[in-house]
Amino acid sequence: MEKIKLFDTHTHYDDRAYKGGADAVIEKALADNVAGFMAIGCTLDRSRKAVKIAESRETAYAAVGIHPNDVGGLPPDYLERLEETAKSEKVKAIGEIGLDYHYKGYDRENQIKAFKEQLRLAERLGLPVIIHSREAAEDTMEILREFKPRAVTHCYSGSAETAGELVKMGILISFTGALTFKNARRAVEACAAVPLEKLMIETDCPYMAPEPFRGELCASGMAWFTAAKIAEIKGLSTKETVKVCNENAKRFFGIDF
Ligand SMILES: [Zn+2]
Ligand SMILES: [Zn+2]
Repeated sequence: MEKIKLFDTHTHYDDRAYKGGADAVIEKALADNVAGFMAIGCTLDRSRKAVKIAESRETAYAAVGIHPNDVGGLPPDYLERLEETAKSEKVKAIGEIGLDYHYKGYDRENQIKAFKEQLRLAERLGLPVIIHSREAAEDTMEILREFKPRAVTHCYSGSAETAGELVKMGILISFTGALTFKNARRAVEACAAVPLEKLMIETDCPYMAPEPFRGELCASGMAWFTAAKIAEIKGLSTKETVKVCNENAKRFFGIDF
C-alpha cells in the first residue's frame, strides 16, 4: 500500500530548545512519516536561519517575516533586508506576521504598523502570508478585510464564527497540537466549522506538542496526532485527512513534495 507522509506547514527548527541543533530530529522525521516542512521566520536573523534550513533539504521551504512579539527595535531598513532574504527560491511565503496582545506591555501601534508593512511587501512579491493572531481578533480581522491577502491563520485559537468569516474571505485555517488538548472545545468547534479544503496541519514545533506528548519537545512527526484529531472531527480516516491537507499546502504555497 502507498505510504502517505505528512507535510508540516509551520516549524521553528532553528529554536534553541533543540539543544545542539535540530538536524538529527529533522532527518529522523523525514526518514519516517514526514514529507517535508515549512521553516518559519520570526526575526531578521531567524528568517535567514529558516531559509538556510530549507535550502539544505529538498522538501523543505521557508517563510520570512517579523513576528508581532519581535517588532520592537527593528532597523529602519528591515523591509529591504527581508526582501533580500526572500530572494531565495525556497521562500514561499511571508510570515509569521500579525498581532499578539497576549503579553503585558505589547506595543499595539508598532505591531499594526509592521503587520501592514509586511502585508504590502507580500503583495508586491506575490507571496502568500502566514498570520499569527493571538488575543487580537478584532484588529486582525479589520486589517485582513482591508488588505484581502492570500493567507493562512496559523495555530488557530479563535471562535468558530471568526473561522467562518475567514473561510469566506478565502483564508485558510491551520491547527497545531493544541487541537488535541483536553480543554480545546473552542478549537474543535472552529475546526468543525471549516471545510477540509481550507485546513492545514502544523506543529509550530518546538512548541505545542499534541497529546499524548503535551509539554514535550515537539517534532513534525507528532502532527499525525493532530491529523487524527481533525479526522475524528470530520468523520474521515487520518490518511484521507492528511492527503487533502497536503494538497491544500501544495496549492497554497505553490510547492511540491
Ligand atoms: Zn505563531
Ligand atoms: Zn510559529
